[in-house]
Amino acid sequence: MNGNKPTLGIDLEGVLSDSVERWLEIAKSEHGAAVQKEEIRGHLLDHDAFKHIGESEYLDMFKRLWDAHESIRLVDNEAPSVLNRLKDRYSISIITATVGGKESAEKWLNGKGIPHDKIVIVPRLGSKMQPDTDIHIDDFFDVLKDARVHGKGAIMFLQPWNAKHLRSAAAFGVHTAKNWNEIEQLLLSGPLSGKY
Ligand SMILES: [Mg+2]
Repeated sequence: MNGNKPTLGIDLEGVLSDSVERWLEIAKSEHGAAVQKEEIRGHLLDHDAFKHIGESEYLDMFKRLWDAHESIRLVDNEAPSVLNRLKDRYSISIITATVGGKESAEKWLNGKGIPHDKIVIVPRLGSKMQPDTDIHIDDFFDVLKDARVHGKGAIMFLQPWNAKHLRSAAAFGVHTAKNWNEIEQLLLSGPLSGKY
């Protein structure tokens, strides 16, 4: 909570920025592996086509795609307008472990017209929980499970790589949304409305 507004803790990659799509494009040009986003069912390096790519190269590819942040697309073109409607009711924290760094994230968010009160860079694989967040929106189930354990609201942004967690999400009271209009509904007129 910030002042009288509840705070949304929103992930960057996979929820706002389509970084995975760019990563797959780089993988195709540099490794000749044509893999579609729909084929990614877990960690990128768990896919057979990428098993030979080491962790440091994997991270370097992410770093390079963020250095060219102008070419990263939105996951959902509606995200900026939905967040512009939500910003009067919610404080907006972007919480990310991106290896791209804060400056590229800030430039990308501003370039796409995504309003935000702050950007919090957390250590890779570290916790995303913040004292002031009320509802977390992420594409990684473990973050949302952590949010529920901390008594916070949670929305899983549906992506091919989290489909296997749908039942666990329901068991933990994690809501799901396949686009930003569904997130807006959950927050303004659905089960999360007025709850935080
Ligand atoms: Mg993510």
